[in-house]
Amino acid sequence: MLPRIGMVCSTLVAEDRPPRFVINQAYSRAIAAAGGVPLLMPALADDQPLRGLFDAIDGLLLPGGADLQPSTYGESPHPLLGAVDPPLDDAELRLARWALEEEKPVLGICRGQQCLNVAAGGGLIQDIASQVPSALVHRVEPRSAIAHSVRVVEPESRLGEILGPGELPVNSLHHQAVGAIAPGFEVVAVASDGVVEGIERPGHPFALAVQFHPEELVPGHAASERLLRRFVLAAAARAS
Ligand code: MN
Repeated sequence: MLPRIGMVCSTLVAEDRPPRFVINQAYSRAIAAAGGVPLLMPALADDQPLRGLFDAIDGLLLPGGADLQPSTYGESPHPLLGAVDPPLDDAELRLARWALEEEKPVLGICRGQQCLNVAAGGGLIQDIASQVPSALVHRVEPRSAIAHSVRVVEPESRLGEILGPGELPVNSLHHQAVGAIAPGFEVVAVASDGVVEGIERPGHPFALAVQFHPEELVPGHAASERLLRRFVLAAAARAS
């Protein structure tokens, strides 16, 4: 059986419609192309059904999305904090902690990297442009455009080995970043302005995250293809 990769949908509230759960199609397409079965999950508030979702998946994908509420990492809101999605924070932080504690493979992408770091007790930079001196431009459209390079600083790590040596050109669609790194995690990749672009928890079978969007770069971006494929393989190993 192919490994099942779960991802939580965001909340969409539009004036003329009831609230809906939504997620970019690119995540499902990329996971399917990497050999996994994507499963879209609702952001449930109750523990028991959320746990049921967690038990039904072999790997957890934490996708991009809204800013995390600063209260989740002990800060008050910066003036340039973007939109937040409290039900999503609540569900994803619980799922991420279960994945870390129970050694289920987890891959964070963009907000997902920030979510994984916060779930493990780390902090965030709430707005790069106003809080990081001489920062690069980290929000560049279209979503597949190469915005800047990242450089691996821990080549012996799993993520470092996947991304490879040298400068790796990536896309960039974020205005927040990892700040204080969570206990038990290490910074694996950075941009030239020092912004964290990859983290990993050593000792966990597969707890990796990147700040760029590999799902928007496949097919054709070899490092992104390797990253998604390795995540699905880790989930397959867990499933068997
Ligand atoms: Mn970036």
